[in-house]
Amino acid sequence: TGALTAAEVERAEARTAHNYHPLPVVLDRGEGAWLTDVEGRRYLDMLAGYSALNFGHSHPRLVAAAHAQLDRLTLTSRAFVHDRFADFCAGLADLCGKDLVLPMNTGAEAVETAIKVARRWGYDVKGVPADEARIVVMAGNFHGRTTTIVGFSDDPDARGGFGPFTPGFTMVPYGDLAALEAAVTPTTVAVLLEPIQGEGGVIIPPAGYLRAVRELCTRANVLMVADEIQSGLGRTGRTFACDHEDVVPDLYVLGKALGGGIVPVSAVVGDRAVLGVLQPGQHGSTFGGNPLACAVGTEVVAMLTGGEHQARARELGVVLADRLGAMVGHGVVGFRSRGLWAGVDIDPALGTGRDLCERLMARGVLAKDTHGSTIRLAPPLVVSDDDLGWGLDQLEACLR
Ligand code: PLP
Repeated sequence: TGALTAAEVERAEARTAHNYHPLPVVLDRGEGAWLTDVEGRRYLDMLAGYSALNFGHSHPRLVAAAHAQLDRLTLTSRAFVHDRFADFCAGLADLCGKDLVLPMNTGAEAVETAIKVARRWGYDVKGVPADEARIVVMAGNFHGRTTTIVGFSDDPDARGGFGPFTPGFTMVPYGDLAALEAAVTPTTVAVLLEPIQGEGGVIIPPAGYLRAVRELCTRANVLMVADEIQSGLGRTGRTFACDHEDVVPDLYVLGKALGGGIVPVSAVVGDRAVLGVLQPGQHGSTFGGNPLACAVGTEVVAMLTGGEHQARARELGVVLADRLGAMVGHGVVGFRSRGLWAGVDIDPALGTGRDLCERLMARGVLAKDTHGSTIRLAPPLVVSDDDLGWGLDQLEACLR
């Protein structure tokens, strides 16, 4: 670590709450899949802002859209309508094959929004008795950091010491259809799940599971709510992770890449029969759906409509899976991948996931551990073949 880096890390640590434990690197520039630090060293970004940077850093189309909007109009609040709003909502609704969009800012806000919508739908449409709505969630979930959301997490770090929590949630093991069937009751309004669990370590449910969840939800008159905040918008090689099983949830919860890595943009997307339950005054956000967010979001939607980024994630995903497959038994215990997204379990004898990420950093690759000895790889979808190959060479070298 150079002197500049050490000084900057120390200054940051001195004046921030310690709710993160970042790698000791201080970045000041990014382009495509590459970052530069204050010492002038370059790094391949194999985390891509937890998939918020699916299109890489400083994508010219996204930066141009943001610049143009910055000079015109950035915020109106929803008290007024602005001229970038309708196109964004229509474009995103069409991308999802749904009627309506409810824009918010962060992922956690969008999840909270989906919870409120599901409860309201339960009372107004399904006829669940007042205050009895239940939502089934999955063990190992990660949906954000609000008190309600951490209240239905089973991660002791996420929830410990933050109670009392919001009632109304039932947890079942992820991927276990029988358990889910048993948990659904007449007061169940929704099943909330990540189609692939990201923070959990890129956990892919058994083949056919999402389809079976869809059928169960339809049969039981329960909303299927897919949190595609990390899995959606191209990462897995399809627009949505649900697409791999041709499943269409009742509500998509989106975030991260929707803002192109430039602004926080999230949304809940669904049909009129569900999102239509909200009336004026019942939900909102000062910044949700602001002109700058809509300008960037509209460009993100346009970039996904062509399908090239999804195709690229599929192509590169084959390389990623092949290379990781060859590392199994050579420092890698196992891995799971879909598209350009992998959870890699490192042999614990080689150190923790954190140790490995520090070694990768020394070789010019930035990645992040999730739990214990698992690291997550999610480079921007715009990474070149050569750069991805080089990044995986560095991983291989670290395992030796
Ligand atoms: N849902 C999922 C699946 C996520 O991966 C995340 C963030 O990692 C969130 C929700 C929360 O998003 P945010 O950090 O923008 O609140």
